[in-house]
Amino acid sequence: MTHRIITIDGPAGAGKTTISNLVAKQLGCVYVDTGALYRGVAYEIGQQGVNWKDDNCLGSFLASLDLNFHMENGHFVLISSGKDITPHIRTPEISMLASATSARPQVRAALLTIQRNIAQSQDAVFEGRDMGTVVFPDADFKFFLFADLAVRAKRRHEEMSEGKTDIQKVEQDMKTRDANDSQRKEAPLKAAPDAVKIDSSHLTIPDVVKIILKNIQKG
Ligand code: C5P
Repeated sequence: MTHRIITIDGPAGAGKTTISNLVAKQLGCVYVDTGALYRGVAYEIGQQGVNWKDDNCLGSFLASLDLNFHMENGHFVLISSGKDITPHIRTPEISMLASATSARPQVRAALLTIQRNIAQSQDAVFEGRDMGTVVFPDADFKFFLFADLAVRAKRRHEEMSEGKTDIQKVEQDMKTRDANDSQRKEAPLKAAPDAVKIDSSHLTIPDVVKIILKNIQKG
């Protein structure tokens, strides 16, 4: 039996996480935050001091990687080797390390397998950068969410420690990450040709959710 797969791709701060979570809730299916998986890889690389630029070191680290997830009170919880690492994966340092390490083909191959395995057994909304282009080219519905850089930085700044961080730094980090993610050779951030593209710069979260659900209902 094949399962219904919905992909939502786009750059950081476009609202993917909240929107994908709400869409999955409305459809009664599982929500997968693939950015969290890349963050989990980066966190473990940092914790274990893995020399991720070396193929052999990276290969043995990935062979021992044990990532799982579940939802708790509506939030995505990431488990690594039985330990909840969710509180540690949203720092600016992990964002940058995830962006750098995600360009390694071995990392992408390991996570591609994990992501496709999840889709084998259930309907799901997958959120990320390459869901509609590489991981699920045959997804039932594909969306690409984007917004102006300044709007995205403002949203992220408000989320982070109640706006205590410097907004210029948030915007600069986002710009660097956008460039890394869209210029890398492996699975760069881009819209699939058959994705519905949504500019969320001037839309509310419920507006975007409505647009996505309408497209899915239209089938
Ligand atoms: O979505 P989020 O900002 O949490 O993702 C963190 C990083 O993980 C991104 O900057 C990107 O480099 C990487 N990523 C990826 N492919 C995905 C999801 C995330 O390369 N499908």
